[in-house]
Amino acid sequence: MKNSGSAQPTSDSTFVTFARDEPKVFSKPQPPPWKILIVDDEEGIHDITRKVLEGASFDRREFRYFSAYSGKQAIQLCKDHPDIALILLDVVMETEYAGLDVVRFIREELQNTAVRIILYTGQPGIAPEQDLITNYDINDYKVKSMLTSQGLSTTVISAIRTYRDIQVIKDQRDTLQKTMEDAQIAQKARYQFLANIGHELRTPLNHIIGFSEILLDSPLTERQQNYIQYIRQAGDDLCAVLNNVLELSELTEGRLVLKESLFSLRTIVAGMMAFLGIQAQWKNLQTSYVIADDVPDMILGDSVLLKQVIANVVGNAIKYTQQGEIHLDVTLFQDHPSQLLFAVRDTGIGIRQDKHDDIFQAFALAEDAIHKEFSGVGLGLTISKQIIEKMNGEIWLESKPGEGSTFYFSMEYHAG
Ligand code: ADP
Repeated sequence: MKNSGSAQPTSDSTFVTFARDEPKVFSKPQPPPWKILIVDDEEGIHDITRKVLEGASFDRREFRYFSAYSGKQAIQLCKDHPDIALILLDVVMETEYAGLDVVRFIREELQNTAVRIILYTGQPGIAPEQDLITNYDINDYKVKSMLTSQGLSTTVISAIRTYRDIQVIKDQRDTLQKTMEDAQIAQKARYQFLANIGHELRTPLNHIIGFSEILLDSPLTERQQNYIQYIRQAGDDLCAVLNNVLELSELTEGRLVLKESLFSLRTIVAGMMAFLGIQAQWKNLQTSYVIADDVPDMILGDSVLLKQVIANVVGNAIKYTQQGEIHLDVTLFQDHPSQLLFAVRDTGIGIRQDKHDDIFQAFALAEDAIHKEFSGVGLGLTISKQIIEKMNGEIWLESKPGEGSTFYFSMEYHAG
């Protein structure tokens, strides 16, 4: 066996020798040549162009020439070789404007905007240069008889350089696109994983919450009552996190749709504020709300999702406030009369300006997670933003560290 380097046992069988390989010739793979298409019905133009450019190269890549003698042939070659870098194109061939038809076909039908096209005409003045450059997507216009050899080489090289630069930008864009797609796939997998875990956790969690509720109704010492209360609260907190995780995976898969029905806004807001007020009381925080008189009561919308946004935003206001108060205002949005505006003001820790956008990204926390004083996973605002956007609204905030925050969110509504 010649080229395999196989082991050959010797008579002594403790040694092996190797068959000598044939000498191999290693050569560096050549980069592909730049493809140049010459389109002209005069044979002589093909010969002279190749002669002038003989031996020319750019960026250590040689030139490879293709010849077409009519517009029709040129179109076929462009279809077969989408990586042609440059076309030197005659205008008058089988028809008076055959070359211009080729330009139109390449740019409009093939959607190829990268290939450089130089009109290379023998009849100056048949179509005015200015008009051609303005009306057709060509890159240069040269009159054959006026072009010296030097001029032709310079024109060709600079056109190929531009083509190369376009390819570099295209490659970078493709890489970026691929990276973004990979990131989206990874993000989706992460949500899916969380959703699976979430479903697994739900049943035991419901047992914890349910049995602590039963225990709270039984005779207990004050101390025991407090402990169970903590267990119950921890269960509720975990449940809120789980709901957010599950909701987010629904949202990212585009499965969440608004379920609209007629509801009383005042009843929903009162119910939510009463529910959230209990958590606030445990921290000795005051809660209040005002719904402006001109806000209609019966609203057509998705009350479940609205409740979720209120729970997230007001819940955060309570979570990130140690003393003071939380106030909710509901008004008609002056900027968009068909929308309601909710403003949730707190006297909490506030958020640095440079975090105002980040906190709406999944898993983003305003504080450094390692030094975190408050528990949170960074999903509530991401979900709220997506829900609000589904309701054609916006969510934003005003906040300064140490001075509290006001979160605003708007939603489109139809009075019922
Ligand atoms: P979570 O509260 O679960 O961490 P969110 O998405 O609701 O997730 O909030 C993201 C981050 O924004 C929080 O971790 C917190 O750092 C910050 N944040 C949100 N609301 C407030 C608020 N009212 N006051 C101060 N910081 C807040």
